[in-house]
Amino acid sequence: MSAQTSTEKTDTLLAEEALLRDKTLCQALLRRLEQALGGIDGGRMRFMEVCGTHTVSIFQSGLRSLLPDGITHLSGPGCPVCVTHDAEVAAFLEMAERPDVCLCTFGDLIRVPGPNGQSLKHAMARGARVHIVYSPLDSLTIAEQNPDKTVVFLGIGFETTAPTVAGTLLTARARGLENFCVFSLHKLVPPALELLLQDTDNNIDAFLLPGHVCMVTGLEPYRFLEEKWHVPSCVSGFEPADILLALCYLAEDLRDGKARVRNAYERAVPAEGNPRAQELVRTVFEPCDALWRGIGRIPASGLAIRSEFADMDAKRRLGIELKPTRPIPGCRCGEVLRGRISPKDCPLFGRVCTPLEPVGPCMVSTEGSCAAYYKYSC
Ligand code: SF4
Repeated sequence: MSAQTSTEKTDTLLAEEALLRDKTLCQALLRRLEQALGGIDGGRMRFMEVCGTHTVSIFQSGLRSLLPDGITHLSGPGCPVCVTHDAEVAAFLEMAERPDVCLCTFGDLIRVPGPNGQSLKHAMARGARVHIVYSPLDSLTIAEQNPDKTVVFLGIGFETTAPTVAGTLLTARARGLENFCVFSLHKLVPPALELLLQDTDNNIDAFLLPGHVCMVTGLEPYRFLEEKWHVPSCVSGFEPADILLALCYLAEDLRDGKARVRNAYERAVPAEGNPRAQELVRTVFEPCDALWRGIGRIPASGLAIRSEFADMDAKRRLGIELKPTRPIPGCRCGEVLRGRISPKDCPLFGRVCTPLEPVGPCMVSTEGSCAAYYKYSC
């Protein structure tokens, strides 16, 4: 059989994606979900997704309005921009003001408010050198073009982003780029799930696990959900049929009294994840405690740069410390991120806080819960 051309491969992928949005398939999965729900004591399931892309997909596809009445959808701390702590924002704003520093960042951080409502957008207006990049590797070009500046890449994201940042740091060292460093604010998903389960107010019955993160980590880091907490979980893709199939698995496991880590996204997520990416992360980073906005310090939920790379660690190199900050007045992002309230329960939602004039980070990021509620349900 002849090998597929790239156009044919694209066509095949598009055909698969279209199938996963097929109305008849989705209706059949909805019926299967309702049937499983009927077998659960009380006929209810509160599930939480911890991925900004799931938040948006569930709204954008209209799934939220189609889910059976007994299902409650909670949006957890799955948007990396939203969970970036005020103290972390204050630290990179302080760096931006230094005349010898150039910051490189993904664009969605530009408007994230820190203490006093200040953001990188305000710092740029005052003349700070902030470059928006599409890949961490772009910041190496900026470092080469600005040899008299210290170029700092803001490493924000979950397990998905960390391997590319690790690869960038290793590339910088191989090229002998001495003016490049990384401010690592990466977060890890499993410790946050553990913390959410310790919070008895949440009553989470099941987790929809983040497909992108699991492509890197595989399923093993989530075994504690079944072994320690007996909570069903399922890795899901991002098309409507992907999400519905994962919800069927969760409801069926709840009905049957099982609590497995399941995978409804096998076409992209191998059980063992991506060993090469995991190795890159282990080479450059080590686990550390991290601050999460509205949640606080979570043990071993962050990634610090190893001492072998101390010269490329912005914290050490520039003497950056995370200082206590006062939360943004009135913003209830912390409760939204814990699934305790819906964005609409925040008194500022849609009145004072909108995507054009955001008060908190959950309204800034396109993957934030407040922004998704505003865009798709207002
Ligand atoms: S609506 Fe705005 S102020 Fe309220 S929780 Fe969301 S981001 Fe914060």
